[in-house]
Amino acid sequence: MVPRMKIDALVVGAGPVGLTMAAELARYGLSVRIIDKAPQPTDKSKALVLWSRTLELMDRMGCTASFVAAGFKAPGASVSAGGQQLAHLSLGEVASPYPYALMIPQSDTERLLTQHLQSLGITPERTVELMHFSDSADGVVSTLRHADGREESVESSWLLGCDGAHSTVRHQLGLEFQGNTLNSDWVLADVHLSGVPNAAQVNVMWHSDGVLVIFPITESRFRVIADVEKPPGETHRADPTMEEIQAVLDRRGPGGIQASEPIWLAAFRINERKVADYRAGRVFLAGDAAHVHSPAGGQGMNTGMQDACNLAWKLALVSRGLCAPTPLLESYSLERSAVGDQVLKGAGRMTTIATMRGGLQQSIRNHVASLVFGLPPVRHAMADALTELSIGYPDSPLSVRGSSAHAGPQAGRRAPIREGEAPVGAGDTPRFALFAKADDRTAALLAKYPNLVEPRVREPFEPGGIWLVRPDGYVAAAAATADGDAISSFLAMVSAR
Ligand SMILES: Cc1cc2nc3c(=O)[nH]c(=O)nc-3n(C[C@H](O)[C@H](O)[C@H](O)COP(=O)(O)OP(=O)(O)OC[C@H]3O[C@@H](n4cnc5c(N)ncnc54)[C@H](O)[C@@H]3O)c2cc1C
Repeated sequence: MVPRMKIDALVVGAGPVGLTMAAELARYGLSVRIIDKAPQPTDKSKALVLWSRTLELMDRMGCTASFVAAGFKAPGASVSAGGQQLAHLSLGEVASPYPYALMIPQSDTERLLTQHLQSLGITPERTVELMHFSDSADGVVSTLRHADGREESVESSWLLGCDGAHSTVRHQLGLEFQGNTLNSDWVLADVHLSGVPNAAQVNVMWHSDGVLVIFPITESRFRVIADVEKPPGETHRADPTMEEIQAVLDRRGPGGIQASEPIWLAAFRINERKVADYRAGRVFLAGDAAHVHSPAGGQGMNTGMQDACNLAWKLALVSRGLCAPTPLLESYSLERSAVGDQVLKGAGRMTTIATMRGGLQQSIRNHVASLVFGLPPVRHAMADALTELSIGYPDSPLSVRGSSAHAGPQAGRRAPIREGEAPVGAGDTPRFALFAKADDRTAALLAKYPNLVEPRVREPFEPGGIWLVRPDGYVAAAAATADGDAISSFLAMVSAR
């Protein structure tokens, strides 16, 4: 086989993460192919929620509006036990243009992402499987197998393993998927329900038997999830019947909820696993290929899509020769692996609390929950964590602080989004943005880095400070105005020498 013309990036996997990755790389002008071994996309609702931070990142991609039009806005969530509300979490006050959970089945998310990708001139190639690859200092050569058995050799500068929990790329790299499978069995039903109280919100019901969660998908369609006992003698739990789902709703719910018109009934177990390093040379992992965890909190797909948004602009700047590979590409795994660890821990904790057994433990849990969730700061912190607005990279080598104190967002934190302002990183060039009072020094910075920094200085977040914001909307460098060298040091550190 003779390798064909070299492309910039080969994306393996056309799930939500691969589609996001391919769209972001294509938007920034890289030559991209995206392949998937499956003949068609999923028709299942799997990951149901897009959180505020993901929607904000999709604004830069230029595709949020179609998702908001197709989705259902859930204003919050409540936790109850024995018919009594223990906690209510409202998302209406989070500081985002998207103060809600956007409920949308994964099948629709993939359809809309595919349309967005096609608007950039790229169509996922289906029934094309990555068999193996070899990575060298100059590029990656991958062997693909087509549906008719034909093999093809593709040379690319980068290989992006977005190929899910059973990732071929991860296996071939020999990376350990550290973690375990939880010893609990779950059932899931995508059904129509009537009689759900406060139907627009996510309802979590703690019961002595276990947990029942009801998520809205549309006004009449819902996702039901419950942990259940395995029938004696079975090693793997069979998919539930409608009778079993109705029985769980009757026993653990408030009464009067009627299920009908099943769309998808499934049993599943929870895996909590992650690789330590998301990068090996020119090969990167993102999404379920790098981390899987409990669906509690609905963070899985969102975390994966944000992996893609984190990496794409870095690869684009390095591929265009505008930035040096170090530290930009090294920062990907450092930043996203730390987020993956937090998500695993948070989702694991929520699962442990929800599935607690024993009357005494459960009543202590319920009492503590109603006390803790009664505190507004706890509710705000929880809302910021769920919506992923609190994600940041303060310990990244790409987060540079000036030496003097200043008000406003700190290095590594998400930059505030101001109404009516174009998102940083939108358009076809990944540029940093300078937020400062325009003066001779900012003019000199713009003149020195015309390809790296937007040509116009934006209004500062607070008087007396200067900020450089990354193309993915996080603060790269922040300093008091008098200490503006932090900005030029950062640009000198990342730019190609
Ligand atoms: C039953 C169920 C319920 C879930 N519920 C939720 C939820 O409520 N909230 C949530 O956030 N997440 C949920 N998830 C998880 C969510 O679906 C995943 O996090 C998400 O799909 C990950 O996206 P991905 O693109 O990384 O991987 P995937 O969606 O798995 O996509 C990977 C793609 O790679 C392709 N592929 C694999 N190997 C190769 C190869 N060698 N060559 C070519 N192509 C290949 C596969 O065909 C696949 O299409 C659920 C998952 C399941 C199964």
